[in-house]
Amino acid sequence: MRTLPPSARRHLGETYAFSTVATHLKRVADHGQTVKYLLRLEDGRTIETVVMHYDASSRSRARTTICVSSQVGCPIGCSFCATGRSGFDRNLSQAEIVDQFLMASRDLGEGQRSLTNVVFMGMGEPLNNYAAVVGAIRRWAAPDTLNFSPRRVTISTIGLVPFIERLSAEGLPVNLAISLHAPDDELRSSMIPVNRKYPIAAIIGAARAHAERTGRRVSYEYVLLQGVNDSVEQAGRLAALVKHRLSHVNLIPMNPVEGSPLAPPSKHRAQAFRSTLQAAGISTTIRATRGLDIDAACGQLRARQPQAVLSPA
Ligand code: SAH
Ligand code: SF4
Repeated sequence: MRTLPPSARRHLGETYAFSTVATHLKRVADHGQTVKYLLRLEDGRTIETVVMHYDASSRSRARTTICVSSQVGCPIGCSFCATGRSGFDRNLSQAEIVDQFLMASRDLGEGQRSLTNVVFMGMGEPLNNYAAVVGAIRRWAAPDTLNFSPRRVTISTIGLVPFIERLSAEGLPVNLAISLHAPDDELRSSMIPVNRKYPIAAIIGAARAHAERTGRRVSYEYVLLQGVNDSVEQAGRLAALVKHRLSHVNLIPMNPVEGSPLAPPSKHRAQAFRSTLQAAGISTTIRATRGLDIDAACGQLRARQPQAVLSPA
């Protein structure tokens, strides 16, 4: 705002916060295709945001996806997740969610690339912070702000059924990703405690209804854990569960988490799992792992950075 006199600029700077997030650390991997930010909030707590560039292919246009956080930590406590293991601090405000997008947009600058997609796959369970998450999506979408379509937003959830139902009733055409990870309730409850409250059948019922109501695809996320949920027999049972219109399965070889004995399966075993699903008529992809060398997976950058040794970006 160089048209304002210095005293007015100083006054504005001292009186108003222009962003609720500040870059504390920025790391680049995959030859510039993955950028991971550790952001500092006004109370000194930190969250992660990741930007991933994908080149155009024969099947899709080039896109730039931002992975945003919805909470500081996560109260759900899944056994395979670095965020879950680090506990829960607090919800993010709507502004802190909105500002992750604005910060990354500014950092991309005036170049060729701009953000084309948002996924709520950073830290936290988005449906556990419902009002702030839906408020942020509406704010991005408002014609007088960014005009960013909810069709380009994906909410990933562990399956909080009443909030999936509430979301379907909002009239927001957002995409849903359901973190399923197991083909039966006994195994799922041992990995994800909240499954005892909202079992698989109820979650898939709500996800199906959302797909029917909005016409948006539901993707089922499935973290492959060696010797736990990765057999072809389990793939067969998974196929029977998710066989419905607008359904897609995304297999994610587990990113190792420090201090956990859980590990990803071999490539061969992951392929066999995928082939079983495809033979049953389920559209299935194996997610390419991004930014392993910068710990770009759910909660892992923060988990490895004791606050005292962080250097400013
Ligand atoms: N709480 C929401 C969103 C954040 S997690 C949810 O669970 O869906 C985003 C994705 O990262 C989920 O699909 C989750 O299962 C996955 N994830 C968590 N820990 C992981 C790990 N160690 N390796 C690979 N993916 C992981
Ligand atoms: Fe929370 Fe999702 Fe991690 Fe589970 S996988 S602990 S719900 S962030």
